[in-house]
Amino acid sequence: MQYLRHSAAALFLFGIPFCANAEPLTVEIVKDLFSEAQLVSNPVEVECTLSGGAQTTCIQITVVPAPTTYEAGPWCPTNVKDGPESSGIWFYDGEVVDADGAFFSQLAMLYEDDNWQVVDPETGDVRYTATAEACAAAARPDVAEEYQNSCVQCLIEYIDGDLTVTYSIPVEPVASEAPADVRRTSVGVAFNGIRIDGPAPLEAILGAYTIATFDDCGGHVNLPVGYHYHAVTDCLAHSHEEDSAQVEGHASVVGLALDGHFIATHLNTDGSAPDDLDACYGHSTSDLGYHYHAGKPGSNQNLGCLTAQAGCSQGEEGETCDATARPPRP
Ligand SMILES: [Zn+2]
Ligand SMILES: [Zn+2]
Repeated sequence: MQYLRHSAAALFLFGIPFCANAEPLTVEIVKDLFSEAQLVSNPVEVECTLSGGAQTTCIQITVVPAPTTYEAGPWCPTNVKDGPESSGIWFYDGEVVDADGAFFSQLAMLYEDDNWQVVDPETGDVRYTATAEACAAAARPDVAEEYQNSCVQCLIEYIDGDLTVTYSIPVEPVASEAPADVRRTSVGVAFNGIRIDGPAPLEAILGAYTIATFDDCGGHVNLPVGYHYHAVTDCLAHSHEEDSAQVEGHASVVGLALDGHFIATHLNTDGSAPDDLDACYGHSTSDLGYHYHAGKPGSNQNLGCLTAQAGCSQGEEGETCDATARPPRP
């Protein structure tokens, strides 16, 4: 991932400590950070109302919710013989597991429920949503009976070609009275333009005897919001070897939370997890100021909460962000 390296280097050249909290976001910085996102137009400064009622300045960006630096997928195996290279991942017991054919053949045992029948016992075929229609019917809370017991996948090409997602993020974080719950909201946006989401509703998904697999980058598609992440994986990290001098062994900074703080990957470059994170998964360092570390892939929790007031993760390009007026979802 070249872009992060370049943006980090560029910011340092101008004497701006990369991602430091003290420096407000500008259109130029955001343009640079999001250079590999599918931006629909240039970022703009707008007036916005944050979740706690603060009126401030936000940077608004509008993106196409599909990745450009890699091909999304695969998600569902089609037969029990399919290995991990032709399937995605799933979160089981707080860990990332390969959602390959072998995994699907063991669902009844793993979830201790014989109603799991995703695999045809005669042919070994894995039932999956093979059309846009099936994806739309299955990737929702109230899964129609005929799509239960399926691996749910929605392909990138099922997304409406005109779908865009608009984010309005404060140029400087504004303190909130209490940390905001993120269990049912998106938490931010990765620098590649992809939504970093709140937890996937695993109970509802499993309750319908479906597995809505993620690809190896932790992403899957639903039709209203496009491709989005339920895990922050190394797919988003830049090469540590070449720029370790800039981040000094610190985890890669990979995106912006809706409250204007930066989000880094879970682990530092030496494989250690920071041990001083608060309930929101944030901490302060002298180089980076206050920032978050995404939760462990498999934990189904990208952030614990938002420390500061959130901007908006929905609406149309040019629409005024009033985060007090909207339900938090999607
Ligand atoms: Zn999802
Ligand atoms: Zn850190």
